[in-house]
Amino acid sequence: MSNKIQSIRGMNDLLPESSPLWQFVEEVMRRTLKEYGYQEMRMPLVEKTELFKRSIGEVTDIVEKEMYTFEDRNGDSLTLRPEGTAGCVRAVIENGLLRGQPQRLWYMGPMFRHERPQRGRYRQFHQIGVEVFGLEGPDVDAELIAISARIWRELGIGGVTLQINSLGSVHSREQYREQLVTYLNGHHDQLDEDSRRRLQSNPLRILDSKNSDMAELIRQAPLLEDALDDSDRAHFERLKALLEIMGIEYEINPRLVRGLDYYGRTVFEWVTDMLGAQGTICAGGRYDGLVEQIGGKSTPAVGFAIGLERLVELMEEQSIPFEQQQPDAYLVIAGEGMVEAGFSVAEKLRDGIPGLRLITNLDGGSFKAQFRRADRSGARFALVLGEDELSSGTLTVKDLSGEREQQTIPLDDVAEMLSRYN
Ligand code: ATP
Ligand code: MG
Repeated sequence: MSNKIQSIRGMNDLLPESSPLWQFVEEVMRRTLKEYGYQEMRMPLVEKTELFKRSIGEVTDIVEKEMYTFEDRNGDSLTLRPEGTAGCVRAVIENGLLRGQPQRLWYMGPMFRHERPQRGRYRQFHQIGVEVFGLEGPDVDAELIAISARIWRELGIGGVTLQINSLGSVHSREQYREQLVTYLNGHHDQLDEDSRRRLQSNPLRILDSKNSDMAELIRQAPLLEDALDDSDRAHFERLKALLEIMGIEYEINPRLVRGLDYYGRTVFEWVTDMLGAQGTICAGGRYDGLVEQIGGKSTPAVGFAIGLERLVELMEEQSIPFEQQQPDAYLVIAGEGMVEAGFSVAEKLRDGIPGLRLITNLDGGSFKAQFRRADRSGARFALVLGEDELSSGTLTVKDLSGEREQQTIPLDDVAEMLSRYN
């Protein structure tokens, strides 16, 4: 016998027992985004490697060490998407969606990063991403945060905190960068290897370091906030005011820099302390320079992404109720030669009862065996079709929870009877 083939580390199967919760989450997101007038986009899972290098940035964790990059048969360098923003920007440029009107978009699907698998960190994981193009004001940033806050409310999630920060415009960040490099150079001996390398290429990323030995050094670093110019400040103040008007609480986290290069001005994260070290369930910000950077005409943009595995784990942690998907009924087909009749009755029931979750017994089996399957299916009722029922146009209904007496009723009354017990 050959060895069993196993899945790839950090890439998980979603099993039937978990899919109802995932579907509930996805439905709430779809509905909420539709209510705000956002439209769905679907992009390929694979893009040219160059796209991610140019958008996420060469000196980032993702591009330096997390991407699944390979050569295809033509010798082109391709990469499984590690996030969705780059592909979304590529797609809106390529399809001419940025001409004239703003775009409010979302997408959902798997992302791939070669990280060390652990709780809340996988190699294939799922995001819902939301992006707005062509609107530059802080009101857009506020709307995106309001959408995320509403999603938590609709899902029934608690215990999440909003952190916001402003990274300033390109110009103010340039000035801050100089101050920061001067400060860090003064403490060169305390920098780890990664940070020494980044000191020249991307010093702001040092603030995002997860190395606890450098926490104190980072805490005492000059603040980006002090380097913001007047228009950055006004943008940030307006965002805060709008959040307050909507009653959305926030904390200002001056160390929040985000791990990707393309952000400027507003950045935000929703964090929880209920998931251990991987506590960020949603992250986003403004990236006004990116469209131009990858070949489009200069267009303001802002977006966020929710990590679905972490969100689902948080819901499980908080035991949040959601609709289970047990079948309503299981059709037992008793007697020889009854299969055709069984099928036509089942289809008739489905025609007459929209949304009915009905399992038809397949592959025959004795009366007893069929009832065993009915019990295991989790259905509330067994509907029995035997020769007597067929000739009298009835079904015998048995309550599998045992609460009610068995009864034989006309086929046309089944809808009404089932609806009374749902
Ligand atoms: P982290 O700091 O946790 O590595 P990140 O800054 O790399 O996160 P983003 O690129 O901003 O994450 O992705 C947005 C969200 O996607 C994260 O907040 C998180 O919820 C989720 N996410 C990112 N990487 C993973 C992963 N490897 N496994 C599961 N979820 C992830
Ligand atoms: Mg990461």
